[in-house]
Amino acid sequence: MAEMRRGRPCGVTYSSRSERLPRLCCCSFQYSKKLSVMGDAKMIKVGVVGYGTIGKRVADAVRKQSDMQLIGVTGNSYSFRMDAAHEKNISIFATEEGKAALEKNGVPVAGTFEQLLDHVDIIVDCTPKKVGKEHKEKYYLPRKLKAVFQGGEKPSIAQVSFTAQCNYNDAINKDYVRVVSCNTTGLNRTLDAVHRAFGVSAVHATMIRRGADPWDIRHGPMNAIVPVLEMPSHHGPDVMTVLKDVPVFTTAVSVSTSLMHVHNIIADLKTEATVQDVLHLFQKTTRVRIVTNDAWIRSTAEIMEYARDLGRDRGDMPEICIWKEGIGIVGHKLFYMQAIHQESNVIPENIDAIRAMMGFTDAKKSIEMTNKSFGMR
Ligand code: NAD
Repeated sequence: MAEMRRGRPCGVTYSSRSERLPRLCCCSFQYSKKLSVMGDAKMIKVGVVGYGTIGKRVADAVRKQSDMQLIGVTGNSYSFRMDAAHEKNISIFATEEGKAALEKNGVPVAGTFEQLLDHVDIIVDCTPKKVGKEHKEKYYLPRKLKAVFQGGEKPSIAQVSFTAQCNYNDAINKDYVRVVSCNTTGLNRTLDAVHRAFGVSAVHATMIRRGADPWDIRHGPMNAIVPVLEMPSHHGPDVMTVLKDVPVFTTAVSVSTSLMHVHNIIADLKTEATVQDVLHLFQKTTRVRIVTNDAWIRSTAEIMEYARDLGRDRGDMPEICIWKEGIGIVGHKLFYMQAIHQESNVIPENIDAIRAMMGFTDAKKSIEMTNKSFGMR
Protein backbone atom coordinates (compact mmCIF):
# COMPACT_ATOMS: atom_id res chain seq x y z
CA MET A 1 0.00 0.00 0.00
CA ALA A 2 0.97 3.60 -0.24
CA GLU A 3 2.89 5.64 2.24
CA MET A 4 2.55 4.71 5.89
CA ARG A 5 2.59 7.05 8.85
CA ARG A 6 3.31 6.59 12.55
CA GLY A 7 2.09 8.24 15.70
CA ARG A 8 -1.54 7.16 15.89
CA PRO A 9 -3.33 6.42 19.16
CA CYS A 10 -2.36 3.14 20.83
CA GLY A 11 0.62 2.89 18.49
CA VAL A 12 -1.58 2.41 15.46
CA THR A 13 0.26 2.91 12.21
CA TYR A 14 -1.91 3.28 9.19
CA SER A 15 -2.11 4.38 5.64
CA SER A 16 -2.75 8.06 5.11
CA ARG A 17 -5.01 7.10 2.24
CA SER A 18 -7.76 9.56 3.03
CA GLU A 19 -5.32 12.47 2.72
CA ARG A 20 -4.43 11.40 -0.80
CA LEU A 21 -7.98 11.30 -2.00
CA PRO A 22 -9.68 14.06 -3.90
CA ARG A 23 -12.43 15.73 -1.93
CA LEU A 24 -15.87 14.77 -3.06
CA CYS A 25 -17.68 17.05 -5.39
CA CYS A 26 -20.72 16.71 -3.17
CA CYS A 27 -23.71 15.37 -4.95
CA SER A 28 -26.04 16.49 -2.18
CA PHE A 29 -26.04 18.72 0.84
CA GLN A 30 -26.78 15.70 2.95
CA TYR A 31 -23.57 14.10 1.82
CA SER A 32 -21.48 17.23 2.26
CA LYS A 33 -22.60 17.38 5.87
CA LYS A 34 -21.23 13.87 6.36
CA LEU A 35 -17.78 15.04 5.30
CA SER A 36 -17.24 16.86 8.57
CA VAL A 37 -17.80 13.59 10.44
CA MET A 38 -15.27 11.90 8.24
CA GLY A 39 -12.43 14.15 9.25
CA ASP A 40 -10.99 12.52 12.40
CA ALA A 41 -7.45 11.72 11.31
CA LYS A 42 -6.68 9.90 14.56
CA MET A 43 -9.04 7.07 13.77
CA ILE A 44 -8.86 4.15 11.36
CA LYS A 45 -11.68 4.89 8.93
CA VAL A 46 -13.68 1.75 8.25
CA GLY A 47 -16.40 0.97 5.73
CA VAL A 48 -18.58 -2.14 5.90
CA VAL A 49 -19.82 -3.62 2.64
CA GLY A 50 -22.76 -6.01 3.07
CA TYR A 51 -25.03 -5.35 6.04
CA GLY A 52 -26.38 -8.79 6.91
CA THR A 53 -25.70 -11.19 9.79
CA ILE A 54 -21.97 -10.49 9.88
CA GLY A 55 -21.83 -6.95 8.48
CA LYS A 56 -24.24 -5.38 10.94
CA ARG A 57 -22.29 -6.87 13.84
CA VAL A 58 -18.94 -5.75 12.44
CA ALA A 59 -20.35 -2.23 12.03
CA ASP A 60 -21.47 -2.10 15.66
CA ALA A 61 -18.16 -3.53 16.85
CA VAL A 62 -16.18 -0.93 14.89
CA ARG A 63 -18.24 1.79 16.55
CA LYS A 64 -17.13 0.50 19.95
CA GLN A 65 -13.38 0.77 19.23
CA SER A 66 -11.56 3.86 20.48
CA ASP A 67 -9.17 3.77 17.52
CA MET A 68 -11.73 3.23 14.74
CA GLN A 69 -14.43 5.25 13.05
CA LEU A 70 -17.27 3.70 11.09
CA ILE A 71 -17.65 5.86 8.00
CA GLY A 72 -20.66 3.92 6.79
CA VAL A 73 -22.19 0.74 5.48
CA THR A 74 -23.61 -0.23 2.13
CA GLY A 75 -27.29 -0.59 1.34
CA ASN A 76 -27.85 -3.14 -1.41
CA SER A 77 -31.62 -3.48 -0.91
CA TYR A 78 -34.29 -2.16 1.43
CA SER A 79 -35.19 -4.04 4.61
CA PHE A 80 -35.68 -3.49 8.34
CA ARG A 81 -31.88 -3.71 8.62
CA MET A 82 -31.56 -0.43 6.74
CA ASP A 83 -34.22 1.17 8.96
CA ALA A 84 -32.28 -0.01 12.02
CA ALA A 85 -28.97 1.31 10.63
CA HIS A 86 -30.62 4.67 9.98
CA GLU A 87 -32.12 4.77 13.48
CA LYS A 88 -28.63 4.10 14.86
CA ASN A 89 -27.27 7.08 12.87
CA ILE A 90 -25.12 4.86 10.66
CA SER A 91 -24.46 6.41 7.25
CA ILE A 92 -25.78 4.28 4.40
CA PHE A 93 -24.08 4.28 1.00
CA ALA A 94 -26.25 2.85 -1.73
CA THR A 95 -25.10 0.32 -4.29
CA GLU A 96 -26.53 0.80 -7.76
CA GLU A 97 -28.84 -2.12 -7.06
CA GLY A 98 -30.07 -0.69 -3.76
CA LYS A 99 -30.41 3.02 -4.48
CA ALA A 100 -33.96 3.15 -5.84
CA ALA A 101 -35.42 0.85 -3.16
CA LEU A 102 -33.76 2.79 -0.35
CA GLU A 103 -34.99 6.12 -1.68
CA LYS A 104 -38.49 4.76 -2.33
CA ASN A 105 -38.69 3.62 1.28
CA GLY A 106 -37.41 6.89 2.72
CA VAL A 107 -34.00 5.70 3.88
CA PRO A 108 -31.59 8.65 3.66
CA VAL A 109 -28.62 7.81 1.47
CA ALA A 110 -25.28 9.40 2.35
CA GLY A 111 -23.62 8.64 -0.97
CA THR A 112 -22.75 5.90 -3.37
CA PHE A 113 -20.91 2.66 -2.72
CA GLU A 114 -17.87 4.03 -4.57
CA GLN A 115 -17.93 7.23 -2.53
CA LEU A 116 -17.76 5.12 0.61
CA LEU A 117 -14.67 3.41 -0.80
CA ASP A 118 -13.06 6.79 -1.47
CA HIS A 119 -13.34 7.85 2.17
CA VAL A 120 -12.09 4.87 4.13
CA ASP A 121 -8.72 3.40 5.03
CA ILE A 122 -10.06 -0.13 4.97
CA ILE A 123 -13.15 -2.08 3.94
CA VAL A 124 -14.66 -5.06 5.71
CA ASP A 125 -16.49 -6.97 2.99
CA CYS A 126 -19.32 -9.02 4.51
CA THR A 127 -21.20 -9.89 1.34
CA PRO A 128 -22.31 -13.44 0.46
CA LYS A 129 -19.65 -15.80 -0.86
CA LYS A 130 -18.11 -14.95 -4.25
CA VAL A 131 -19.31 -11.32 -4.15
CA GLY A 132 -16.20 -10.38 -2.17
CA LYS A 133 -14.01 -11.69 -4.98
CA GLU A 134 -15.90 -9.61 -7.56
CA HIS A 135 -15.58 -6.53 -5.36
CA LYS A 136 -11.87 -7.10 -4.89
CA GLU A 137 -11.21 -7.23 -8.60
CA LYS A 138 -13.56 -4.45 -9.62
CA TYR A 139 -13.14 -1.95 -6.78
CA TYR A 140 -10.50 -2.67 -4.13
CA LEU A 141 -7.50 -3.63 -6.25
CA PRO A 142 -7.78 -0.67 -8.67
CA ARG A 143 -8.06 1.69 -5.67
CA LYS A 144 -5.27 -0.06 -3.74
CA LEU A 145 -7.78 -0.26 -0.91
CA LYS A 146 -7.21 -2.70 1.94
CA ALA A 147 -10.02 -5.18 2.57
CA VAL A 148 -10.96 -7.84 5.07
CA PHE A 149 -12.95 -10.75 3.60
CA GLN A 150 -15.09 -13.42 5.27
CA GLY A 151 -14.92 -17.19 5.41
CA GLY A 152 -17.32 -17.74 2.52
CA GLU A 153 -14.60 -16.59 0.14
CA LYS A 154 -11.87 -18.95 -1.03
CA PRO A 155 -8.51 -18.69 0.81
CA SER A 156 -6.87 -17.48 -2.41
CA ILE A 157 -8.74 -14.15 -2.17
CA ALA A 158 -6.33 -12.98 0.53
CA GLN A 159 -2.67 -13.04 1.47
CA VAL A 160 -3.56 -14.51 4.87
CA SER A 161 -6.35 -16.59 6.39
CA PHE A 162 -6.76 -15.25 9.90
CA THR A 163 -7.67 -16.10 13.47
CA ALA A 164 -6.27 -13.45 15.80
CA GLN A 165 -4.93 -15.58 18.62
CA CYS A 166 -3.27 -18.00 16.17
CA ASN A 167 -1.61 -15.81 13.56
CA TYR A 168 -2.20 -12.09 14.19
CA ASN A 169 1.38 -11.29 13.18
CA ASP A 170 0.90 -12.76 9.70
CA ALA A 171 -1.69 -10.07 8.95
CA ILE A 172 0.39 -7.06 10.00
CA ASN A 173 0.44 -4.49 7.16
CA LYS A 174 -1.20 -6.92 4.73
CA ASP A 175 -3.65 -5.54 2.16
CA TYR A 176 -6.03 -8.51 1.94
CA VAL A 177 -6.92 -10.78 4.84
CA ARG A 178 -9.64 -13.40 5.11
CA VAL A 179 -11.25 -14.04 8.49
CA VAL A 180 -11.98 -17.77 8.33
CA SER A 181 -15.51 -19.11 8.79
CA CYS A 182 -17.29 -19.50 12.11
CA ASN A 183 -16.60 -23.25 12.28
CA THR A 184 -12.96 -22.83 11.33
CA THR A 185 -12.51 -19.99 13.83
CA GLY A 186 -13.93 -22.25 16.55
CA LEU A 187 -11.61 -25.11 15.67
CA ASN A 188 -8.60 -22.80 15.37
CA ARG A 189 -9.06 -21.16 18.76
CA THR A 190 -9.17 -24.38 20.74
CA LEU A 191 -6.88 -26.60 18.64
CA ASP A 192 -4.20 -23.91 18.59
CA ALA A 193 -4.23 -23.83 22.40
CA VAL A 194 -4.06 -27.65 22.63
CA HIS A 195 -1.31 -27.83 20.01
CA ARG A 196 0.83 -25.21 21.74
CA ALA A 197 0.42 -26.91 25.13
CA PHE A 198 0.64 -30.62 24.31
CA GLY A 199 1.40 -30.99 20.59
CA VAL A 200 -1.21 -32.49 18.28
CA SER A 201 -0.36 -35.21 15.75
CA ALA A 202 -3.86 -35.65 14.27
CA VAL A 203 -7.41 -34.35 14.69
CA HIS A 204 -10.73 -35.93 13.75
CA ALA A 205 -13.73 -33.71 14.24
CA THR A 206 -17.42 -33.73 13.36
CA MET A 207 -19.26 -30.46 12.87
CA ILE A 208 -22.96 -30.53 13.74
CA ARG A 209 -24.01 -27.43 11.90
CA ARG A 210 -27.03 -25.21 12.34
CA GLY A 211 -29.31 -25.37 9.32
CA ALA A 212 -29.78 -21.58 9.01
CA ASP A 213 -29.35 -18.38 11.01
CA PRO A 214 -32.27 -17.53 13.34
CA TRP A 215 -33.72 -14.80 11.11
CA ASP A 216 -33.37 -16.85 7.93
CA ILE A 217 -36.61 -18.33 6.60
CA ARG A 218 -35.11 -19.37 3.24
CA HIS A 219 -32.52 -22.00 4.17
CA GLY A 220 -32.01 -24.99 6.35
CA PRO A 221 -33.35 -28.50 6.85
CA MET A 222 -36.69 -28.39 8.64
CA ASN A 223 -37.11 -32.10 9.26
CA ALA A 224 -33.89 -33.76 8.25
CA ILE A 225 -30.23 -34.30 9.09
CA VAL A 226 -28.21 -33.47 6.01
CA PRO A 227 -24.72 -35.01 5.75
CA VAL A 228 -22.04 -33.06 3.92
CA LEU A 229 -21.10 -35.60 1.26
CA GLU A 230 -17.46 -34.74 0.85
CA MET A 231 -14.47 -36.20 2.66
CA PRO A 232 -13.10 -34.32 4.42
CA SER A 233 -15.66 -31.52 4.77
CA HIS A 234 -14.07 -28.18 3.79
CA HIS A 235 -13.47 -27.26 7.43
CA GLY A 236 -10.39 -29.45 8.00
CA PRO A 237 -8.43 -28.08 5.03
CA ASP A 238 -9.57 -24.58 6.03
CA VAL A 239 -8.16 -24.99 9.55
CA MET A 240 -4.86 -25.93 7.95
CA THR A 241 -4.69 -22.57 6.15
CA VAL A 242 -4.03 -21.14 9.64
CA LEU A 243 -2.72 -24.07 11.75
CA LYS A 244 -0.45 -25.30 9.01
CA ASP A 245 1.21 -28.16 10.93
CA VAL A 246 -1.92 -29.69 12.50
CA PRO A 247 -3.44 -32.49 10.36
CA VAL A 248 -7.20 -32.07 10.73
CA PHE A 249 -9.84 -34.32 9.18
CA THR A 250 -13.44 -33.17 9.50
CA THR A 251 -16.90 -34.44 8.65
CA ALA A 252 -20.11 -32.42 8.92
CA VAL A 253 -23.89 -32.72 9.12
CA SER A 254 -26.51 -29.95 9.10
CA VAL A 255 -29.38 -30.22 11.56
CA SER A 256 -32.70 -28.51 12.24
CA THR A 257 -31.54 -25.78 14.59
CA SER A 258 -30.62 -22.15 14.10
CA LEU A 259 -28.91 -21.35 17.40
CA MET A 260 -25.34 -22.65 17.24
CA HIS A 261 -23.03 -25.28 15.79
CA VAL A 262 -21.58 -28.07 17.95
CA HIS A 263 -18.20 -29.74 17.30
CA ASN A 264 -17.18 -33.16 18.60
CA ILE A 265 -13.39 -33.21 18.50
CA ILE A 266 -10.81 -35.97 18.95
CA ALA A 267 -7.18 -34.81 19.07
CA ASP A 268 -4.21 -37.19 19.26
CA LEU A 269 -1.78 -35.57 21.69
CA LYS A 270 1.98 -35.83 21.41
CA THR A 271 2.51 -35.54 25.17
CA GLU A 272 0.52 -36.77 28.17
CA ALA A 273 -2.23 -34.64 29.62
CA THR A 274 -4.99 -35.07 32.18
CA VAL A 275 -8.54 -33.79 31.98
CA GLN A 276 -7.59 -31.22 34.63
CA ASP A 277 -4.64 -30.03 32.50
CA VAL A 278 -6.91 -29.53 29.51
CA LEU A 279 -9.62 -27.84 31.55
CA HIS A 280 -7.05 -25.48 33.04
CA LEU A 281 -5.70 -24.74 29.55
CA PHE A 282 -9.13 -23.85 28.14
CA GLN A 283 -9.97 -21.77 31.23
CA LYS A 284 -7.03 -19.50 30.49
CA THR A 285 -7.43 -19.42 26.69
CA THR A 286 -8.77 -16.15 25.38
CA ARG A 287 -12.17 -16.16 23.63
CA VAL A 288 -12.95 -19.60 25.05
CA ARG A 289 -15.51 -20.12 27.83
CA ILE A 290 -16.01 -23.23 29.93
CA VAL A 291 -19.69 -24.06 30.48
CA THR A 292 -20.94 -26.73 32.85
CA ASN A 293 -23.76 -29.16 33.36
CA ASP A 294 -23.61 -28.13 37.05
CA ALA A 295 -24.70 -24.63 35.99
CA TRP A 296 -27.54 -26.17 33.99
CA ILE A 297 -25.92 -25.41 30.67
CA ARG A 298 -26.74 -28.65 28.95
CA SER A 299 -27.54 -27.38 25.47
CA THR A 300 -27.03 -24.62 22.93
CA ALA A 301 -30.40 -23.16 23.98
CA GLU A 302 -29.08 -22.54 27.49
CA ILE A 303 -25.85 -21.02 26.17
CA MET A 304 -27.90 -18.53 24.17
CA GLU A 305 -30.03 -17.76 27.22
CA TYR A 306 -26.82 -17.25 29.22
CA ALA A 307 -25.59 -14.76 26.60
CA ARG A 308 -28.87 -12.84 26.88
CA ASP A 309 -28.58 -12.87 30.69
CA LEU A 310 -25.06 -11.47 30.38
CA GLY A 311 -26.62 -8.55 28.51
CA ARG A 312 -24.60 -9.19 25.40
CA ASP A 313 -25.48 -7.17 22.28
CA ARG A 314 -28.08 -9.11 20.27
CA GLY A 315 -27.68 -11.94 22.82
CA ASP A 316 -24.39 -12.89 21.17
CA MET A 317 -21.79 -15.34 22.52
CA PRO A 318 -18.56 -14.69 20.58
CA GLU A 319 -16.58 -17.08 22.83
CA ILE A 320 -16.25 -20.75 21.95
CA CYS A 321 -18.11 -22.65 24.69
CA ILE A 322 -16.57 -25.95 25.83
CA TRP A 323 -18.50 -28.25 28.13
CA LYS A 324 -16.41 -29.09 31.21
CA GLU A 325 -18.05 -32.49 31.53
CA GLY A 326 -17.47 -33.14 27.81
CA ILE A 327 -13.66 -33.21 28.13
CA GLY A 328 -12.20 -36.73 28.23
CA ILE A 329 -8.82 -38.40 27.82
CA VAL A 330 -8.17 -42.01 26.76
CA GLY A 331 -4.49 -42.74 26.36
CA HIS A 332 -3.17 -40.01 24.10
CA LYS A 333 -6.59 -39.16 22.70
CA LEU A 334 -8.32 -36.00 23.89
CA PHE A 335 -12.10 -35.69 23.38
CA TYR A 336 -14.02 -32.46 23.80
CA MET A 337 -17.27 -30.83 22.71
CA GLN A 338 -17.66 -27.16 21.86
CA ALA A 339 -20.47 -24.88 20.77
CA ILE A 340 -20.00 -22.08 18.23
CA HIS A 341 -22.26 -19.03 17.96
CA GLN A 342 -21.99 -18.68 14.20
CA GLU A 343 -23.43 -15.17 14.05
CA SER A 344 -20.89 -13.59 16.38
CA ASN A 345 -17.66 -15.53 16.93
CA VAL A 346 -15.90 -14.08 13.88
CA ILE A 347 -16.71 -10.45 14.76
CA PRO A 348 -13.77 -9.86 17.17
CA GLU A 349 -11.50 -11.43 14.55
CA ASN A 350 -12.56 -8.78 12.03
CA ILE A 351 -11.65 -6.04 14.48
CA ASP A 352 -8.19 -7.48 15.14
CA ALA A 353 -7.68 -8.02 11.41
CA ILE A 354 -8.33 -4.32 10.81
CA ARG A 355 -5.74 -3.32 13.43
CA ALA A 356 -3.13 -5.76 12.15
CA MET A 357 -3.59 -4.68 8.53
CA MET A 358 -3.31 -1.02 9.54
CA GLY A 359 0.05 -1.75 11.15
CA PHE A 360 -0.76 -2.18 14.85
CA THR A 361 1.95 -4.64 15.82
CA ASP A 362 0.97 -5.69 19.35
CA ALA A 363 -1.27 -8.75 18.97
CA LYS A 364 -1.89 -9.18 22.68
CA LYS A 365 -2.87 -5.55 23.11
CA SER A 366 -5.20 -5.62 20.12
CA ILE A 367 -6.92 -8.76 21.39
CA GLU A 368 -7.27 -7.18 24.84
CA MET A 369 -8.74 -3.97 23.40
CA THR A 370 -11.20 -5.92 21.29
CA ASN A 371 -12.14 -8.26 24.12
CA LYS A 372 -12.81 -5.35 26.44
CA SER A 373 -15.20 -3.81 23.94
CA PHE A 374 -17.12 -7.13 23.78
CA GLY A 375 -17.07 -7.62 27.57
CA MET A 376 -15.10 -10.84 27.28
CA ARG A 377 -11.63 -12.04 28.24
P1 NAD B 1 -26.09 -12.30 4.78
O1 NAD B 1 -26.84 -12.87 3.65
O2 NAD B 1 -26.72 -12.29 6.13
O3 NAD B 1 -25.66 -10.80 4.46
C1 NAD B 1 -25.07 -10.43 3.24
C2 NAD B 1 -25.38 -8.97 2.97
O4 NAD B 1 -24.70 -8.57 1.80
C3 NAD B 1 -26.85 -8.68 2.77
O5 NAD B 1 -27.19 -7.55 3.54
C4 NAD B 1 -26.95 -8.39 1.27
O6 NAD B 1 -27.97 -7.44 0.99
C5 NAD B 1 -25.59 -7.79 1.01
N1 NAD B 1 -25.16 -7.88 -0.39
C6 NAD B 1 -25.39 -8.87 -1.28
N2 NAD B 1 -24.81 -8.58 -2.46
C7 NAD B 1 -24.18 -7.37 -2.29
C8 NAD B 1 -23.42 -6.53 -3.15
N3 NAD B 1 -23.16 -6.87 -4.40
N4 NAD B 1 -22.95 -5.37 -2.64
C9 NAD B 1 -23.19 -5.00 -1.37
N5 NAD B 1 -23.92 -5.76 -0.50
C10 NAD B 1 -24.41 -6.93 -0.99
O7 NAD B 1 -24.67 -13.06 4.82
P2 NAD B 1 -23.77 -13.36 6.09
O8 NAD B 1 -24.32 -14.56 6.78
O9 NAD B 1 -23.56 -12.11 6.86
O10 NAD B 1 -22.42 -13.85 5.40
C11 NAD B 1 -21.48 -12.92 4.90
C12 NAD B 1 -20.14 -13.61 4.83
O11 NAD B 1 -19.77 -14.02 6.16
C13 NAD B 1 -20.08 -14.88 3.97
O12 NAD B 1 -18.78 -15.00 3.43
C14 NAD B 1 -20.30 -15.98 4.99
O13 NAD B 1 -19.78 -17.22 4.58
C15 NAD B 1 -19.54 -15.43 6.17
N6 NAD B 1 -19.94 -15.94 7.48
C16 NAD B 1 -21.25 -16.13 7.78
C17 NAD B 1 -21.60 -16.65 9.03
C18 NAD B 1 -23.02 -16.91 9.41
O14 NAD B 1 -23.26 -17.80 10.20
N7 NAD B 1 -23.98 -16.19 8.91
C19 NAD B 1 -20.60 -16.93 9.95
C20 NAD B 1 -19.27 -16.68 9.63
C21 NAD B 1 -18.95 -16.20 8.37
